[in-house]
Amino acid sequence: MANYNPYDNVLTVMNEAAEILGYSDNDIASLKHPERELKVSFPVVMDDGTTKVFEGFRVQHSTVRGPAKGGVRFHYAVNHDEVKALAAWMTFKCAVVDIPYGGGKGGVICNPSKLSERELHEITKQFTIAIAPLIGPEKDIPAPDVGSTPAMMGWMMDTYSMLQGHTVRGVVTGKPVEIGGSLGRTEATGRGVMFSTNNVLDKLGIDRKGTTVAIQGMGNVGSISASLLYQEGMKVVAVSNSSGGVYNKDGLNIPAIIDYLSDRKNLLSEYNEEGLVHISNEELLELDVKVLIPAALENQINESNADRIKASVIIEAANGPTTAEADEILASKGVVLVPDILANAGGVVVSYFEWVQNLQCISWTEEDVNTKLKNIMDPAFDAVWDISKENNVSLRTGAYLIAIKRVVEAKKLRGL
Ligand code: NAD
Repeated sequence: MANYNPYDNVLTVMNEAAEILGYSDNDIASLKHPERELKVSFPVVMDDGTTKVFEGFRVQHSTVRGPAKGGVRFHYAVNHDEVKALAAWMTFKCAVVDIPYGGGKGGVICNPSKLSERELHEITKQFTIAIAPLIGPEKDIPAPDVGSTPAMMGWMMDTYSMLQGHTVRGVVTGKPVEIGGSLGRTEATGRGVMFSTNNVLDKLGIDRKGTTVAIQGMGNVGSISASLLYQEGMKVVAVSNSSGGVYNKDGLNIPAIIDYLSDRKNLLSEYNEEGLVHISNEELLELDVKVLIPAALENQINESNADRIKASVIIEAANGPTTAEADEILASKGVVLVPDILANAGGVVVSYFEWVQNLQCISWTEEDVNTKLKNIMDPAFDAVWDISKENNVSLRTGAYLIAIKRVVEAKKLRGL
């Protein structure tokens, strides 16, 4: 898979959906190219006194339906094509849940686990200064993604505000609640994953209680998903992070694991409980479970392992975890897959709520946020389910039928 390019995945699905919708190449030509891309490099003085130059990206895929919206990834392997794909997925994600945003994404090449808090703060600050001409509450609104945290969003907000000469809360979402973050934002992506899981199990007539689940990735999204599905009565038998995975056929003690990880990040490989077996990330993906939830990175389910996947339901909590080739293999096996642009949209929906609260200088209760989130996620799921059945296509294609139509029609109505 050395030549894997996630942007090719985006183009494959986009072309398929556009053909079903009867759109010409002209109709979707502009969607195949990001509107704006910025590559930056900036120096940072490290704790040992040396100066290191870091590289980063900000890509705005589309602003047809509103300001660009999307996270910033801090990861040693992040690259331009990955950020381009992530930005495009944001365009379609915002469209499928019908919130007034386009899509954008950012990335900084660094390894947060090897940086001190001061170094991370400085990198975040310098990156924000470098991309400042592109961002703003009406233009492009970053948020957390892999390797970035609410604290870092606070630093981004502060840096941008310093440049403007006044506090601008709405320039980033996922901030700490004390400085304008929304209640419920940290849990929002995992909560949306839980709604998506419940919805698909209900449609398939599968009882939630005791349903076996395996989750790859125990970061923000994976751990909240694990916790909420555990609370729903599902049996979470396996979880993993970059240090490896754990499996217990009788169900893992998820609250204990989350508690353990909160103190000792990335040492899941050293966690123990009765009946537990240590497994690799590859083994986790191939477990005999009902529901598999990839919640880490792209390209985890691909042509090399798709035929060994035993789960009958996949919920894409991560962005782009399944390649187009794997999609075909899974479909031929009858696997029902809830696609990323729907399954993990809870995060951007509550980011939208945060932005709305910031612009109006108000704050909603957590209960209000969670209810409003459900009121968006459930109808979006039903719409994707229905259109997929009507057209006899996968849920992924169904989601893109809705999303691409909304973006192309908005483009036409704007006379673009
Ligand atoms: P995070 O940095 O909090 O966590 C990532 C987790 O994945 C960590 O536990 C890490 O150890 C693990 N990991 C990394 N490589 C792995 C591998 N090869 N195998 C198993 N685990 C591995 O990131 P996050 O915010 O939870 O994001 C996870 C995914 O969800 C990403 O695809 C991201 O784009 C997507 N997403 C995040 C949000 C959000 O609100 N944070 C919203 C929508 C989608």
